[in-house]
Amino acid sequence: MGRLDGKTVILSAAGQGIGRAAALAMAREGARVIATDINRETLAALGDEAAGLHLETRVLDVRDPAAVTAAAEALGAPDVLFNCAGFVANGTILDCDEDQWAFSVDLNMTAMYRMIRAFLPGMIAAGGGNIINMSSVVSSVIGAPNRFVYGATKAGVIGITKSVAADFVTRGIRCNAICPGTVDSPSLHDRLSATGDYDAARAAFIARQPMGRIGRPDEIAALVVWLASDESAFVTGQCHVIDGGWSNT
Ligand code: NAD
Repeated sequence: MGRLDGKTVILSAAGQGIGRAAALAMAREGARVIATDINRETLAALGDEAAGLHLETRVLDVRDPAAVTAAAEALGAPDVLFNCAGFVANGTILDCDEDQWAFSVDLNMTAMYRMIRAFLPGMIAAGGGNIINMSSVVSSVIGAPNRFVYGATKAGVIGITKSVAADFVTRGIRCNAICPGTVDSPSLHDRLSATGDYDAARAAFIARQPMGRIGRPDEIAALVVWLASDESAFVTGQCHVIDGGWSNT
């Protein structure tokens, strides 16, 4: 018996990192998983790894409104929608020009608005549904250096989450946000390399972690599974911080 037997899950950004780990974890718990990403190659690799599981892949650019609408029409209403797509921009407000601001707002926030607007009516019509939104502990929870537009947009994700949860709680809809601290993922490696001193940057990230380590994608995936399952049926409108104690220091 899997904890997600009988449930259909649609998620974005499933090609790598937390989304990939969550897609596999949910499929292993018995869900039918429709794993989407903009990256065809990483999706193909995920499909290979998921052989034997009930996991399908589909290319979806969440920044493309027509593609999101088409996906909702083609796929119908899932039991669980996990909006995982996001981008970590580096820099302060003084580094963030209008284009960079617009890009992060579009990918981190507007795409989530777009996905929920596209899939929510079907979920309501089906009698209920469960939305999980990827925020970050760097949001309205804590500030971090050089995470200006990232923190602003991830705070917006919490606002979207709480608003949707409040508006649709009586229609069988749950909506929660996940707020991870630093997690080992391909884009984290890119960010560390971009500093010019990978080892020093990694040591600095670890130094701010009370546990002395960064998180693993499977640790975040375990929270996604719980939120996707009926074990969390009484939970909605919350930010679920999972950060190794970073925000508690
Ligand atoms: P990642 O950044 O390594 O991968 C991101 C994925 O998003 C890639 O597969 C990419 O192809 C996909 N993507 C990018 N643009 C897209 C688009 N327009 N449409 C669809 N997919 C698109 O993965 P990660 O670091 O695990 O991050 C996943 C999510 O978790 C993000 O929202 C991120 O902000 C959040 N998060 C990450 C960390 C961390 O430390 N890694 C911490 C907190 C929150």
